[in-house]
Amino acid sequence: MKKQYLHKAHIDEMGRLIIPQDLVSRFGYKPDSDVYIEEGNDEIRLHRPVSHLAKVYIEVTNLCNLDCQTCMRNVWGEPSGMMSDATFEKIFAEIQGMSVLPTVFFGGYGEPLIHPKTAEWVTRFKEIGARVELISNGLLLTEERSLQFIRAGLDVLWISLDGSSEESYVDIRLGSSLPVVIDNLKKLRYIRHKATDIDNSLPNLGIAFVAMKKNISDLPEVLKLGVQLGANRFSISNVLPHTPELNDQILYKRSIQNMVGRQNTSYPLVNLSRMDWNDVTKDVLAYIYGRKFRLELAGYETNRAVDTCPFVEQGSMSIRWDGSVSPCLPLLHTNQYVCRMQLRKTLNYSLGNINDIGVLGIWQGEKYAALRDRLQRFDFSPCTFCDGCELSEENLTDCLGNTELACGGCLWAQGFIRCP
Ligand code: SF4
Ligand code: SF4
Ligand code: SF4
Repeated sequence: MKKQYLHKAHIDEMGRLIIPQDLVSRFGYKPDSDVYIEEGNDEIRLHRPVSHLAKVYIEVTNLCNLDCQTCMRNVWGEPSGMMSDATFEKIFAEIQGMSVLPTVFFGGYGEPLIHPKTAEWVTRFKEIGARVELISNGLLLTEERSLQFIRAGLDVLWISLDGSSEESYVDIRLGSSLPVVIDNLKKLRYIRHKATDIDNSLPNLGIAFVAMKKNISDLPEVLKLGVQLGANRFSISNVLPHTPELNDQILYKRSIQNMVGRQNTSYPLVNLSRMDWNDVTKDVLAYIYGRKFRLELAGYETNRAVDTCPFVEQGSMSIRWDGSVSPCLPLLHTNQYVCRMQLRKTLNYSLGNINDIGVLGIWQGEKYAALRDRLQRFDFSPCTFCDGCELSEENLTDCLGNTELACGGCLWAQGFIRCP
């Protein structure tokens, strides 16, 4: 059987690579665009051109009905609000006019279902043929909303579930109720099953889990529960430790020390074949995984995520509820987190407001293009691995002379934090 993701490209007599047309349009390889090529052992990896907008995160509100222990909202002093009709219409009109529609992801720091227009806006984007995803804590997922999402053809509904028992779940998700969320998801599945007059294969259900010392033992049960509820994808991230107390809960202290970044490629290479994880192997495999090795699993590097901004690699922009645009979700709001043992303040970084210059005006502007290029090169000081200095207390500058924005202490860029 042919490999699902294998495509054949052609190299002409001049050494130029001719890429299949469907990949050209999907990944935005327009004539004259610049792309980065990364060397692997036996292959080269072609990045997206930095000019291709493939995904738009829309934070419809930063208000929330919960008060989660892990939330960035606990450490910011920012105004709260909801996206206005005018801001949404501006985004919608521009996206509608694009020749290749980006994926639209409703999510940010707040609960999208608090906004009365979210379901309607999901429907609008689905009507023009965009792929649409949404993340929610699931508490406000009423039968009416479930039906709206099913009828709209929402592609993926992500639900945050950080525990498998009511006790462990509400310990983190203050103000929520696990039985209510489970009941809402059961109703969603039932309504979808009954909706025979439409394509009822959607939405796919995804579960997002934020892992800490205190809840990691719940993960097997959360995976089981998710499968029972019909989930076909899981996103498991570490916690971003906004406070020293949360830093005591992280599961990657040693991994940070052992990280193979630019500065320590002299670590021995271990190429490990696939092996069962069982009582015989688990301690040995944990030893290899936890030591200072460059690790390849069946020939594939496990450190691909190092020095890589996931938001830029996926061609995304993030729009705050008031229309302000950032290159990623974490830069939408000023916040703080513990990087190694030091508190680091992450100042909001805005590239402009879509109400002033529009989505494409910002995306195609020189400032954003230069930033995307810098992020793909990842030309920042390695603050995540360094013991720290005064410069790393904020994300404004670093010892390589970056000014305005320094991403060397970003835990997303080292693969420790993931968003769905
Ligand atoms: S549901 Fe999300 S936005 Fe709301 S408090 Fe929890 S983590 Fe924060
Ligand atoms: S490296 Fe981190 S802080 Fe910088 S743009 Fe990417 S996700 Fe945002
Ligand atoms: S800016 Fe400071 S913390 Fe970051 S790498 Fe340089 S010396 Fe280390």
